[in-house]
Amino acid sequence: MMSNKVEDVSEEDVQRLAEFIDTAARIVVFTGAGISTESGIADFRSPGGIWSQIKPIQFDEFLSREDMRMEDWRRRFVFQAEFDAAPINDGHRGVATIINSTKGLGLITQNIDGLHQRAGIADSDVVEIHGNGVRAACLDCQSPMSLAEAKTIIEQTGQSPRCGRCGGLVKSKIISFGQPMPQDKMVDAERLAMSCDLFLVLGSSLVVQPAASLPLVAKNNGSRLAIINKQSTPLDAIADFLLPSSIGTSLQKALEKSALGGSSANI
Ligand SMILES: [Zn+2]
Repeated sequence: MMSNKVEDVSEEDVQRLAEFIDTAARIVVFTGAGISTESGIADFRSPGGIWSQIKPIQFDEFLSREDMRMEDWRRRFVFQAEFDAAPINDGHRGVATIINSTKGLGLITQNIDGLHQRAGIADSDVVEIHGNGVRAACLDCQSPMSLAEAKTIIEQTGQSPRCGRCGGLVKSKIISFGQPMPQDKMVDAERLAMSCDLFLVLGSSLVVQPAASLPLVAKNNGSRLAIINKQSTPLDAIADFLLPSSIGTSLQKALEKSALGGSSANI
């Protein structure tokens, strides 16, 4: 492991987190950029992040301009290389332990890097509300295309890839600025938030929608809310448990103490 973080979590907090996990029967985990920054992936929406340095490509620009599509693909391949090179961390492993246990209802993530799946969580257990940056599909018929295939097409034709089935525009599955959030994902995320008795937030500042409202949905349906995030969030005041520390360390230690064990039965 390349992690040599200072231990920033007290035994008491670890114990309390373990108790929250053990007393819950239906856990939903919600993750944001903070869990991936512990793998060295930049939080590109943060101040100083990539979107404060280069202009994001708006969805309507992607639809209307070939040069923007080509630039979008160029960026996708840069990101993919970064995601592929990033190691999964103790936070990803801990989330996988929870989600793959009988208590795990599902994972909602703002992240597009696919690291949760690499940590052993099935696609069917993840709601990616901002999409997925390592996969692509036709915007019209949803036929999938791998990024590798898209890259080959671009290299061979000098043009952005079109769907082999219907001729539609192919785009990475990330939700771009100005692109509507997929309604089915929103429905899935809300259903999860309404069904849990512990809503565990890891590494999200809970500012942008729907991150800001899903914990409220959970609370309003009787769930407890736990937040592990280094910075304060607008929902700290209603949290039942608050831990301003690193995710990997605290989660791994809490799971070792919990009935779920720390069994990192994954890659
Ligand atoms: Zn198509």
